[in-house]
Amino acid sequence: MKLRVPMARALLLGAAVVCFGSGPAEAAAAPLIGVKIYDPVPDTAALFREWRRLGIDTAFVSTALAESGTFVPAARQAGFRTFVIVPVFFNPEYLAAHPDAWAITGRGERAKQDWVEFVCPSHEGYREERKRYALSLLERRRPDGLSLDFIRHFVFWEKVRPDGRIDPLDTTCFCPRCLARFVSDAGLVAPGAARASPRAAAEWLLDHHSEGWTRWRLASSRPGSRGWFAKRGGPRRA
Ligand SMILES: [Zn+2]
Repeated sequence: MKLRVPMARALLLGAAVVCFGSGPAEAAAAPLIGVKIYDPVPDTAALFREWRRLGIDTAFVSTALAESGTFVPAARQAGFRTFVIVPVFFNPEYLAAHPDAWAITGRGERAKQDWVEFVCPSHEGYREERKRYALSLLERRRPDGLSLDFIRHFVFWEKVRPDGRIDPLDTTCFCPRCLARFVSDAGLVAPGAARASPRAAAEWLLDHHSEGWTRWRLASSRPGSRGWFAKRGGPRRA
């Protein structure tokens, strides 16, 4: 089950934050003390009092709560900065409607573990959809910024032990789209055998181009790559 934290507890793990209205230098000088909130609470005023008592100055708000139309203005009115959490490559609803968009592991399986379901980072239709949605959210709900969550490749990292290792075949994405894009960007030609299946692609990539593939994977999912989100104000790591 996905952890939902309505009160102050957990914060800012593995997300990129894009904020507007202040320069990178100013933002870097003022650390955020934030809390994620996914669901409405019965007494918002009491929640804000508790946040103030804890020293929290920023609310990271789920898209559902932001779309309610009332929480973001109320938080701002109460003096909190507001960031909307936009999941990037985690999107079970999209995958249910677009099965061609699944990220694929080196075993040829869909990138799914428990509730974690990931979209292929090279799926242009999806990237466009996410970009349009995030921009429309900014226009309609006017938060102070975005928290781009799940902007990475598939892994259920909450279930990876500190001393654990991830088999490269369980990573992503080895679909034909990603293979074609990688070889194009790297100026390579994939042998016919490597194009036979995701498993064959994974073996060729990991055996012959491990370092380049790893670097390309990192670049392919981050903001700014291939027309991804514009860097207004500059994204920064949270
Ligand atoms: Zn892919």
